[in-house]
Amino acid sequence: MAVTMQTPLSRVLGAKTATSMAEQLNLETVHDLLRHYPRRYARRGEQVDLADVQVGDRVTVLAQVRSVNTRPMLKKKGTLTEVVVGDGSGRMKLVFFNRRHAHLRVNAWGMFAGTVGEYRGEKQFAHPDMHLFDSAEDSDPEWARALIPIYPASKDVSSWVIQKSVTLLLGAGGGFGELVDDPMPEDLRARHGLLSLPAALLDIHRPTTYEDVERAAHRLKWDEALVLQLTLAARRRAAALEPGTARPRRSGGLLDAVDAALPFELTEGQRAVGEELATELSRDQPMHRLLQGEVGSGKTVVALRAMAQVVDAGGQAALLAPTEVLAAQHARGIRELLGPLGRAGEIDGDPAGTRVTLLTGSLKTAARREARADVAEGRAGIVVGTHALLQEGVEFADLGLVVVDEQHRFGVEQRDALRAKGSRPPHVLVMTATPIPRTVAMTVYGDLEVSTLRQLPSGRGGVSSSVVPQTEKPAWVDRAWQRVREEVAAGRQAYVVCPRIGEESGSDDEPEDADGAPDEDQRRPPLAVLDVFELLRAGPLAGLRLDVLHGRLTPEEKEVRMRAFATREIDVLVATTVVEVGVDVPNATVMVVMDADRFGVSQLHQLRGRVARGKHPGLCLLVTDARSDSPSGQRLAAVAATSDGFQLARLDLETRREGDVLGAAQSGNRSGVKLLSLLEDEELIATARIEATELLATERGLADHPGLAAEVAALATDERAEWLEKA
Ligand code: ADP
Ligand code: MG
Repeated sequence: MAVTMQTPLSRVLGAKTATSMAEQLNLETVHDLLRHYPRRYARRGEQVDLADVQVGDRVTVLAQVRSVNTRPMLKKKGTLTEVVVGDGSGRMKLVFFNRRHAHLRVNAWGMFAGTVGEYRGEKQFAHPDMHLFDSAEDSDPEWARALIPIYPASKDVSSWVIQKSVTLLLGAGGGFGELVDDPMPEDLRARHGLLSLPAALLDIHRPTTYEDVERAAHRLKWDEALVLQLTLAARRRAAALEPGTARPRRSGGLLDAVDAALPFELTEGQRAVGEELATELSRDQPMHRLLQGEVGSGKTVVALRAMAQVVDAGGQAALLAPTEVLAAQHARGIRELLGPLGRAGEIDGDPAGTRVTLLTGSLKTAARREARADVAEGRAGIVVGTHALLQEGVEFADLGLVVVDEQHRFGVEQRDALRAKGSRPPHVLVMTATPIPRTVAMTVYGDLEVSTLRQLPSGRGGVSSSVVPQTEKPAWVDRAWQRVREEVAAGRQAYVVCPRIGEESGSDDEPEDADGAPDEDQRRPPLAVLDVFELLRAGPLAGLRLDVLHGRLTPEEKEVRMRAFATREIDVLVATTVVEVGVDVPNATVMVVMDADRFGVSQLHQLRGRVARGKHPGLCLLVTDARSDSPSGQRLAAVAATSDGFQLARLDLETRREGDVLGAAQSGNRSGVKLLSLLEDEELIATARIEATELLATERGLADHPGLAAEVAALATDERAEWLEKA
């Protein structure tokens, strides 16, 4: 029977190889193997570079034997053979105990694979797997020039076994070109000058030059981007066909009351996005929109106005925050703004208004039951809670709009769960202050429409940031505390943020960190809130009113302290990153971040957004042990130098090595993305998005492209669909 892309590998390869490939590399069909691309290519004359490998890494190198030395072992019986292999100036040591390899002769070429070990500080391979080229092959000039593919390998499937298996398929009888059906529409391929699939596969597995590799990879990336974008376009189309409930604007209601009560003028951006939302809410297709805007750009009021419109139209609106502190703050703020209109049914409430209900896990049983009843029976028009609200099976009388605040990991699955609430899916608005690079918006959030608030409300003082390098300029640290004292003396307040809570503290509030600082283990433990609090209170900030805020406090305690800070009963709040998102105290003007190098770029930007939310200028001081010329030091300098969130988001992607969010998420995933990079392939992804949208908009859709349809279906049913959850 003819071999096709769907043929199981067990039918074309040896049983043992096929089994190992399936178990260890997740490769089951011809298609899987052909899409298992080389990690890199080796060429004779290139250096064996062991500088980059870590002990414990599994690596494959192409090298020549330099010396072979066998001697009896000193303390034990038997022999030890040490072989030095190398190429160019690079070299490495292989050791074998009680084993001789007749073919391991000086000048022989081979590939060596193993797990990097260490002996007396020197990296080495013990008993590596080897594939020695015979001398005929060795003298073959073709081979000497060729690029040797190095594949992601596993314990029992070495790179050269994969290479041999692939070669077998590429040379398959009947012609390789016939084995491979190119799913990509011919005209699309022509339009973008892409290789055919058989040609691309041949070149990625058996290239002669790096140009071959590049052209092949370009075409194969197109496959990935196209299928991804077709999937997302299909989701958008399906969503557009879903029946929802129109919530048109009505005058004389809550929305007008909100507008009348606002203590400020809306910015132009807030007005424009507001119109966009108002229009979409009055359609009977559910809105699916992402609102992104710099920290402090005023997203909350935009959301509140949308919620008011829905309440005016007879529905309920839920606002979900990532933490209880934030949920409580939102509820408090909305109640204040609405006044009697937010207390319908209470003694001093306005019967024309609605009820604002806070529903969080920390409510006492009775209060909780009452709140749930208010929600289920429709008395609560505005429901504020944490994301858990959705999982806890809270019933709504008529949920019209869900606003998800400050959640940049709110993936497709959660959004789907949301849409399943109620008899008809509600409108959904996701808000984030983490600026989303364009590629992420086109992929992870690719099924949402995007609105952006670019402008900050006028009259903001702005934040200036500085790095305080403790070891290089110790005097600056004293100056930092002095600045805090000055601000407090002028009637302002300050945050001091630390990476950890206290002594034995677990990981609950730990920063995302892991910017890949090399010798993490040798560093002192990160500074802790409780220690810093004691130090400051006894020393540099003695006499000021200090308190702490962190994740180990009960929700009530947190709420009490946030409130005390908001009402200026506390001058300085020493906290973990619980203040990271959304906390809004306009009178706070200084933020001192301790061990700033332990925080991610976006996180620092978020933190800094907590100050200068009022009319006074803000100051953010990034205290660190990192030397200013170290990568961490430079990263901090970059954060201090710009307030452009989009630029920082990009820097974050780079430094956290998540440029391949998609790629990293799919490892082990058979239908996912392998070559596409969010950082490097922005144009390609954008173009594929346009092509995908147009393809689906045609009358026959994918009907004439069964290959593509099959790949889209495979991706859609991939129950893990994890690549869409990562951002
Ligand atoms: P974010 O977009 O980070 O969630 P918020 O919605 O918390 O920002 O708004 C930040 C602060 O700006 C709040 O104190 C809010 O009341 C205030 N604010 C919002 N819009 C305006 C405006 N148009 N003019 C002045 N202040 C505003
Ligand atoms: Mg906010």
